[in-house]
Amino acid sequence: MVENVVIIGSGPAAHTAAIYAARADLMPVLFEGFMAGGIAAGGQLTTTTDVENFPGFPEGIEGPDLMERMRKQSERFGTRIYSETVNSVDLSQRPFKFKTDEREGLAKTIIIATGATAKRDNVPGTGDKELWQKGVSACAVCDGALPMFRNKPLFVVGGGDSAMEEAHFLTKFASKVYIVHRRDELRASKIMQDRARANPKIEFLYSHKVVSVDGGNSVEQVRVEDLKSQEQKTFPAAGLFFAIGHVPNTGFLGGQIETDEQGYVITVPGTTQTNVPGVFAAGDCQDKKYRQAITAAGSGCMAALEAEHFLSSHH
Ligand code: FAD
Ligand code: NDP
Repeated sequence: MVENVVIIGSGPAAHTAAIYAARADLMPVLFEGFMAGGIAAGGQLTTTTDVENFPGFPEGIEGPDLMERMRKQSERFGTRIYSETVNSVDLSQRPFKFKTDEREGLAKTIIIATGATAKRDNVPGTGDKELWQKGVSACAVCDGALPMFRNKPLFVVGGGDSAMEEAHFLTKFASKVYIVHRRDELRASKIMQDRARANPKIEFLYSHKVVSVDGGNSVEQVRVEDLKSQEQKTFPAAGLFFAIGHVPNTGFLGGQIETDEQGYVITVPGTTQTNVPGVFAAGDCQDKKYRQAITAAGSGCMAALEAEHFLSSHH
């Protein structure tokens, strides 16, 4: 049997695509992955607590709860969901081939919605069983507005555009934001650097690294080391945000789809079309700028509508 639409992934992009494709009677199959990219089925939101910026939930909703609801909605309209990771695809001809540990099959269209994984550094105190999500985060837009950070000093690690943007955003809430960067020169674009430098609440700690994050049930202090003098200092702080880049989960494509140098799938602007006709990409695997649940969901909708259109014009 040749599937109409195979959706790979299980975050907001994948499930929104599934809801639209299923309601269009395309009988989609969704491979939700099994700890693919180090993330449970349901995607990045399964690693967080309150989601307060997804419309429709004025009181906020727990990330895993939101993803469980999306999964149920995909199933309600007949999506077949397999808890398997797609290991490889062959996109050299249509129908495309896909393979998991347990099965292989053929698909007329494929929607890639495999997301990205935020990088975290292995700093003592920041691990899953330590202060991760108790003041340590990798998403300022998601967590920055939490009451625990109000009028407190915060740390951002990184020297790219994300670090500048996150630090600038956090100054809305924090008393002060330290940017810790491992070199003397920032990687960020000039405009983003200038904006951060002009912000009186931001202080740069160049050629520094974070040595440890300490606290009881939440972050209380951050210890840093000057990489030139090896001198260490401890600062009181309520939070630490990693902004050291993301890794898109696109390795399994084996270079068959055009990506940028970091591995993000390149789509035709304003669409979810990749360079292979019939293969669409949605969510964080093709978006290194917005990286939000709602934008991922929006592009998942686009991918399903584009796949439907493709199927009706390519019999
Ligand atoms: P993802 O959520 O990245 O999910 C992709 C899924 O695909 C993963 O489960 C992965 O295991 C699976 N997968 C990967 N490869 C394969 C494969 N080969 N086969 C099968 N499955 C595969 N955004 C907000 O809007 N609000 C928030 O409050 C918010 N909080 C966040 C908190 C944290 C801690 C993090 C890390 C992110 C947060 N975000 C938030 C960002 C949001 O989670 C992402 O933008 C969104 O989840 C991206 O959705 P996605 O559909 O692209 O895929
Ligand atoms: P980048 O890869 O550009 O920057 C990552 C930063 O983190 C670098 O400064 C790097 O240091 C540092 N870093 C990496 N690993 C470690 C580590 N283990 N410990 C300490 N520091 C580390 O990632 P970004 O997420 O900032 O940006 C990704 C892309 O998204 C870029 O193309 C960027 O332009 C774009 N973007 C654009 C925005 C905008 O225009 N508004 C906003 C956000 C992102 P080093 O420099 O030494 O390598």
